[in-house]
This record gives sequence, structure tokens and C-alpha cells, in this order.
Amino acid sequence: MQTTIITGIIGKPLAHSLSPIIHNACFKQLSLDWQYIPFEVEPEAIDCLLKFARKSNIAGFNVTMPYKEMITGFLDELSHETLKIGAVNTVKILNGRAAGYNTDAGAIIRILKEQYGKSPKGKSVVLIGAGGAARAVAYAAHSLGCKKLAIINRTRSKAKRLKNDFKEEFDQINLLDEPGDMKNAVESSDIIINATPVGMFPETGKLPINIEYLKKGQFIMDLIYHPAETNFIKEAKQMGIKAVGGMPMFIYQAAESFKIWTGINPPQETMAAVVKDFFGE
Ligand code: NAP
Repeated sequence: MQTTIITGIIGKPLAHSLSPIIHNACFKQLSLDWQYIPFEVEPEAIDCLLKFARKSNIAGFNVTMPYKEMITGFLDELSHETLKIGAVNTVKILNGRAAGYNTDAGAIIRILKEQYGKSPKGKSVVLIGAGGAARAVAYAAHSLGCKKLAIINRTRSKAKRLKNDFKEEFDQINLLDEPGDMKNAVESSDIIINATPVGMFPETGKLPINIEYLKKGQFIMDLIYHPAETNFIKEAKQMGIKAVGGMPMFIYQAAESFKIWTGINPPQETMAAVVKDFFGE
């Protein structure tokens, strides 16, 4: 009899992670003898966990906050996008070696290709946030040929680091500090992406930027998936602006991780149904 193959997620806290239910639903549907387990670990246990994983029936795992950046120092290989983004959300263990990937970037690329409705080539992007997800957005925007990037972030030093790391990738890259700069940049941009938790459950009343700066013809994306539609997305839609929440990205990044471990495309409709069920929709 074959040993059950283990995958999972490392992070802290993990109580609200939806990843175990969506991956386990797909393993079950595909009759795979695999299990996805939440590993809530302390930072000092990561080295030990990787040493163990390399010598066990663990095929890989997802990585979430606060370990996406830190984990890069413990891996044997890093994919191209991971080197640029500086964050890993998927680890694959094969033949005793641990390789890091970032499937957030691929998920963002897929959404822009599928839902923007125009070619992102040459477009200008306003990015709210400068953390790991924002860096994946910058990578995705560059990969799709966007030419201008303007960054809004609470902590200037982090936005400055993002700007420096991606300055070769864009024709123009700016930091937006002053309200006037923000207004002008948002009004003249094509794509606006929120990569902060502002508006996330339970503080759903908050908006990441002044909604009055938005206008028709723009494309709005919010990476938050709880709630599935933030106020930012709802308000944009009410203004007749095309807007997409973080749920499709969540499913796409999970599907890509699943494929990295198993070599199989998972049933994404099952993932979506499990999430809908979870939120009682
Ligand atoms: P992170 O690395 O911790 O970065 C968080 C970013 O949000 C930083 O730029 C931070 O600014 C900013 N921020 C945090 N709290 C804020 C506040 N109260 N006001 C203003 N700015 C604030 O986190 P992350 O991994 O990039 O995740 C960011 C968001 O994306 C989260 O909501 C996460 O759930 C979402 N996400 C979604 C998916 C998906 O599949 N849909 C995947 C990944 C991430 P400072 O620099 O000032 O700290």
C-alpha cells in the first residue's frame, strides 16, 4: 500500500485559511491519496521543518504570512519570478530538494488577461501596497508589458524598495505621497490594484483610496478575498467600473500550487464551490 502523500501550508496564524478545505476537496474528487495539513509553526521551527520535509512523504506546501520572504533563505532552488519578487508562496519537495515558486504572480497575470478586456500592454498601473502581494503585482504588470507604475504605501521606505527593485522594468515608476499626486495619478491610470488588507474582514467599511478619483473605463482589482467583494469593489461596480475581487486570484494561485505538486490540473469549479459554501453563498 502506498503511503499518503502530505502537502499543507505553513504560516501563523492559520485558523482562517481556506487552503486546506479547497485542496482536500480536490484530492478527494480526484481519488488521490493526498492530504493538505495546516502547519502553524514558529519561525525557529522552519529550518527543522524543511530538513524533515526533504526526508519524508511531504511533497510540498504553501507558505503564507509572515514567512513568504523568510522561507527563501531555507530553499535549494528559487524560480525566476521568486528571485524578482523576493517571496515564495509554494514549495515543492522532490528528491530531497526544496524549490520555491510564487503562484500569486501567475494568478494576477491570468486575471488581467481574462478579465481586463483589453491588452495591458503599455498601460499605467496604480498599486496600493508594497508588501509581498504588491511585489507580485509589480512583477505581473511588467510581464504583461505595462509601462507605468505608481505606488501608494503607508510606509515610504517599503515603497521605495519596491521602486528600486523594479525601476528597470517600467518606463516610469513613481511614489505617490501627496493627496494631489494621488488624485492625478489615479485619475490618469488604466488599472488600479489594492494589495493591502484595507477593507478586509472584519474592518470591511474601510476604503484603500478615495473612490471619487475612479472613473469609467478603468479596471479595479482588490486582492482581498474575505469578503469576496470589498466595499472598494462594490463602489467601483456601482460607478459602472469593471472591478474584480480577490477570490479568482485565490483559486488560481491554489490551482497552480496543486499542479506544481501533483502534475494535475485540479477541478477549479470544485475549489470555487467549496469557497462559496464556506461563505454561505
Ligand atoms: P504584507 O506583505 O504584509 O503587505 C501588506 C501591505 O499592506 C503593506 O504594503 C502594508 O503597508 C499595507 N498595509 C497593511 N495594513 C495597512 C493599513 N491598515 N493601512 C494601510 N496600509 C496597510 O501582505 P501581503 O501578503 O502583501 O498581502 C496583502 C493583501 O493581499 C492581504 O489582504 C492579503 O489577504 C491579500 N492577498 C490575497 C491573495 C489572493 O489569493 N487573493 C494572495 C496574496 C495576498 P506597510 O508597508 O506600511 O506595512
